Amino acid sequence: MGTPVDFGQRSYNHYGAYLKNKYDGKRVFKIIVDGGFTCPNRDGSKGYGGCSYCNVDSFTPELSRKTPVIREQIEKGIERAVKGYAAEKFIIYFQPNTNTYAPAHFLKMMYNEALSIAPENVVGLSVGTRPDCIDAEKVALLESYVDRGLHVDLEMGMESIYNDTLNQINRGCSHEELVQALNLVENSRLDICVHTIFGFPWESKEMMLKYADEINRFPQIKFVKLHHLHIVEGSIMGVQYKRNPFKVFSIEEYTDFLAEFIPLLRPDIVVQRLFGLADYDLLIAPNWGMKKSQIQTYIDKRLESKGVVQGSEYLAII
Ligand code: SF4
Repeated sequence: MGTPVDFGQRSYNHYGAYLKNKYDGKRVFKIIVDGGFTCPNRDGSKGYGGCSYCNVDSFTPELSRKTPVIREQIEKGIERAVKGYAAEKFIIYFQPNTNTYAPAHFLKMMYNEALSIAPENVVGLSVGTRPDCIDAEKVALLESYVDRGLHVDLEMGMESIYNDTLNQINRGCSHEELVQALNLVENSRLDICVHTIFGFPWESKEMMLKYADEINRFPQIKFVKLHHLHIVEGSIMGVQYKRNPFKVFSIEEYTDFLAEFIPLLRPDIVVQRLFGLADYDLLIAPNWGMKKSQIQTYIDKRLESKGVVQGSEYLAII
């Protein structure tokens, strides 16, 4: 089991440091691809209108939004990553919508196409989905890319561990369905990531801290993406918020929450993300008035100044 110092200098296992360590110091970047999928919570099979906090555009880069052809998205994405960040290796990341929401033979065609574009420099495939859109056939398909030498992440939305919240946000998927999906991949060779949202106004701090216990009990969870609730244009919650604003995290409050949460998290889990940030033209609240890099620095420094160490509380109680 790893410790924070194995992977980086921060208060938590930082994904950037993890990648650097894994790929011999090479600069590895995720190239986001919009495969043109929809989502069962939008097309009517589970619901209409989507999860109440969601506007897919708010987490899809402009380049992918405007470029429907996969090849073009990947070629341009790689070009930008090389020019802007001296990137050397790439992970193809199917992010927007539900990227396993199609028959396995169709998914295979799409993943194969994406992975054929720069095979010499692509080291991984990352697929974001909902827990109710994964089955044994799709797990086997994803594992076939592990056989080809790629690292494959399967990212699933947990969002909240409380069904009451999942109902309130029109998630169309229960926590038990996430647990079922986690059981399905328990012995797979996929790297599993779960995505959570903190700050639903009806969840107390104590309730949110309990997410850590739930994540910790699944050893197959390797990565987490932690987000604060942000309200975006084009979402149901955006309309609700404008009509009747409610409390959202300030950056200080959110960081103080993370300072309590991170010590509870299993020390081997790698944190891919600590917050989310929609484009400012879509963001309604909270507007912290900072660039992404400034928010990251603020949070990292404050966590460090508080002496936060991932897993310190978890290790104290096991
Ligand atoms: S958050 Fe995911 S599952 Fe929910 S509506 Fe948006 S794309 Fe669909």
